[in-house]
This record gives sequence, structure tokens and C-alpha cells, in this order.
Amino acid sequence: MIGWLPGGGRCRTFFAGFGVSLMMDKVLLFSDFGTRLAALNPKTLAALVRWVFHPGMLFSSLEQWWNPNRPRAVPHEGLDLCCFAEPSGALRWVPPDLSVPPFLPGRVVRMAPDFLGISIFLGHDLCRAGLRLHSALGHTKPRADLRKGDRVEAHELVAHLAPPRGRRPKVPPHLHLSLFWLPDKTSSARLDWRTLGSDPIVHLLNPLPLLNLPYTIQTLPVPAGLFRSPGEAK
Ligand SMILES: [Zn+2]
Repeated sequence: MIGWLPGGGRCRTFFAGFGVSLMMDKVLLFSDFGTRLAALNPKTLAALVRWVFHPGMLFSSLEQWWNPNRPRAVPHEGLDLCCFAEPSGALRWVPPDLSVPPFLPGRVVRMAPDFLGISIFLGHDLCRAGLRLHSALGHTKPRADLRKGDRVEAHELVAHLAPPRGRRPKVPPHLHLSLFWLPDKTSSARLDWRTLGSDPIVHLLNPLPLLNLPYTIQTLPVPAGLFRSPGEAK
């Protein structure tokens, strides 16, 4: 399979340097995350022709896309997958039961609450210059048997999206994906959103070019009516 380097638990080491960074990105450019995400959600994403990203959903954005009048506290640490287009051009918002695979095979190094659900931090089998590639899947409800230390393979389901919180949730269900290099000996206890957003030991990557996703970028209205809890009057 192309798309990523097979791991088998062994850390692959590359030479340090800018050129190697480009090489690593080139390797990751062939990631099949988008294909595996679609394969895990054959009904939900059956009509998907492209993902649609509001600018505030993109890496480094300072905009709260669900609340456009307020800025983010720190530049967005990753990418929010939330909305897709059907062949007719109609937009669909992902349901909270969307099944989520890992970005790459890896090991669960931490699971911690976030403001919508649980964030799953994974350490992957790619290393360079003492840094290990990590990912974070944010706003999820992890698979019931998933534990810290577990190995997860590429095609496994690791989580569903977290269900909306409260009777009038202000933020729709969505998958946040962060990719970052981290010193290999970093304590997992340091892995949280404060560290991702502001600690210089974290080297964030823009996930968008690395996911094998068809997409467009356009301004999206926040569809407030879609976020009511089940059973609530419209
Ligand atoms: Zn996000």
C-alpha cells in the first residue's frame, strides 16, 4: 500500500534538514486518510464529492467559524472536517456518529477531554532528528475499548464524533485533526491543547495537503437549526 510508511512499531529515522522535511511531506502527501474515512462511512459519505472548508476551519486560522464575530485564542492548530458537498452542490454537515480512523497507524499516547468531547493523541512510526510524528483527533467519543498504549492500525475505527453538548449546542459536531512533530521523549502528560497551541516544542503541520481529500474553500453559513438536540422542537 502506498500512502504512508509501514511501521510495525519501529521508529523510522531520517536525516535532519529542510530537504528532509520536504521529503517527509512528500511521503505524507500520499496519505490515504480521506479514502479510509470514506470507507469507514459508506452510507454517511456515499454522496460526498468534495469536502467544503470555511476559511475558519483551516490550519492557522484566527476565526471561530461557528462564531464569526469572535477570534480564536490561538491560531488554529489543525483542520476541522465538518461539511461536504453532494453532486448537486448541496451541502451536508457531518453527523455525530461519523466513524473516525487514525491518520496513520500508531499508538495511543493520551486521551483527554476537550471542549466538545475527547481528544485522542497518537504517536506514529515516523521519526526524524529526534522528533516523532504525532496526530490529535479532537472532539471525539473514543471506541469503548480504546486505551492509552493501544496500537491502532490504519483501517481501524478509533472513535466516533462526540455528540452535541447541551440543548442548544453552539458548535456543530466536527473532527479536528492536528499533525505535529514532537521530541520523541516528551512526556505524554504534556500533550494537551495548551501545549499544541503555544509550546515551542511542538512543530505543527498543515494537514490539508496531506489527506488525499477533494475539497473547496468557501464561506459557510453556520446552520444553527441543524444543531438542536434530538427531540427538541424546531
Ligand atoms: Zn479545530
